[in-house]
Amino acid sequence: MKGTPLVFEKSQPGREGFRLEKADVPEIDLTNTIGEELLGREPDLPEVSEVDVVRHYTGLSDMNFGVDNGFYPLGSCTMKYNPKINEEIAAIPNFSELHPYAPEELCQGTLEIMYRMQKYLCEITGMDYFTLQPAAGAHGELTGILIIKKYLEASGKNRTKIIVPDSSHGTNPATAKESGFEIIKVRSGKDGLVDISELQKAVDEDVAALMLTNPNTLGLFEKNILEISHILHEKGALLYYDGANLNAIMGIARPGDMGFDVVHVNLHKTFSTPHGGGGPGAGPVGVKAFLRDFLPKPIVEKKGDKYFLNYDLPHSIGRMKAFYGNTGVILKAYAYIRSLGAGGLREASEVAVLNANYLKKQLADLFEWPTDSICKHEFVASAANWKEKYGIRALDIAKRLLDFGFHPPTIYFPLIVEEALMIEPTETESRETLDAFADALRRIFEEARENPDLLRKAPHHMPSKRVDEVKAAREMKLKY
Ligand SMILES: *Cc1c(COP(=O)(O)O)cnc(C)c1O
Repeated sequence: MKGTPLVFEKSQPGREGFRLEKADVPEIDLTNTIGEELLGREPDLPEVSEVDVVRHYTGLSDMNFGVDNGFYPLGSCTMKYNPKINEEIAAIPNFSELHPYAPEELCQGTLEIMYRMQKYLCEITGMDYFTLQPAAGAHGELTGILIIKKYLEASGKNRTKIIVPDSSHGTNPATAKESGFEIIKVRSGKDGLVDISELQKAVDEDVAALMLTNPNTLGLFEKNILEISHILHEKGALLYYDGANLNAIMGIARPGDMGFDVVHVNLHKTFSTPHGGGGPGAGPVGVKAFLRDFLPKPIVEKKGDKYFLNYDLPHSIGRMKAFYGNTGVILKAYAYIRSLGAGGLREASEVAVLNANYLKKQLADLFEWPTDSICKHEFVASAANWKEKYGIRALDIAKRLLDFGFHPPTIYFPLIVEEALMIEPTETESRETLDAFADALRRIFEEARENPDLLRKAPHHMPSKRVDEVKAAREMKLKY
């Protein structure tokens, strides 16, 4: 990146950051161990002092943007503030230093928390059993669809298709394909919801499941969910819940009560783990009782007052991950659930929905709206009017927002909305922040009118200017 030298460029011959003691053990010949070509060659390392290293990496971290720096309304991703107490709890050495092969008698505390977590997730989602193994939402989807596949095979049914709405997240069709299914897309109606007559036409005896998130990716509650569930079940197909949007409905509505047979929950989204840098996350999967024996093994169970890992699941799809899941993320989610309590979780969802509707109202006259309904925890605006009037696209708006100190919303998703900006403020933002964000968009709208070129070249105040995204993808340079 221009203006930001690599640590190698700061190298000065002979400069040291660290000096080792003279070795007090006998030297041995390493020729046979590491090979001749490496012996006698200086390692290719920068020669810098300790303070050079500290300033270099602190400088890089200053260029990063996270929820701890500012507003991060990245739709569908639930970038809420993550209380620091969760980190402290997950870092308690009794948890963090527990060896994964420790015998059950020596890890009763951790097993108890995993057991309780399975129960909490059952309670929150209305399911009967949970596995904590999957490492993310997409991994949960794969787990859930493999469970459905194995269940149908065990019942002697060979079903080849999975239905996804045209508003679905890309991981849904990707999961269906990876699990060996044909993908059937159903169109959304004008109201942004699953078109019931389209769905009816698509569901036949070859359909294994419909994958659906509720509220959907437009931030709208699928109010016909009971009818949808009936249509699927009547034909012997199952209903899969993509739980990425659970932050809208905690303590208010449960996918299990809506007729979903399998759900995944993105713990890192709804239950507060910092994410966005690539993990770790967790995507526990819950099932109705008839699917219990197909869960990955082991699951944590309790006999008398002892917790144990139960491997006795006759139809299990097998392991989905080494050991028992990303325990650190599970601990953070546990701390979060315990500190909010049932009432607090419900309040979090209520405020998330309130914040989204407040912000949507503030922006009402700036954008076009795919639907005019009240939204849940997020909403999708269309900048088609900006494009038509000023030639300004959603991408330009997103880049210019960076100059105002905001992380841009998700853009160009869902695919069914032209020039989409998908905005999810979350419950952890104050009214002042929401107003400041709305003000920034208002100013950018004025700029679009008065000086559209300024927007096309944005950002102007970032360490890196507008990047050539095509070139970045085609000519990836991953090595110095
Ligand atoms: C985030 C998301 C996923 C995928 O979850 P990961 O944890 O990122 O793998 C799936 N569906 C929707 C709607 C999402 O927002």
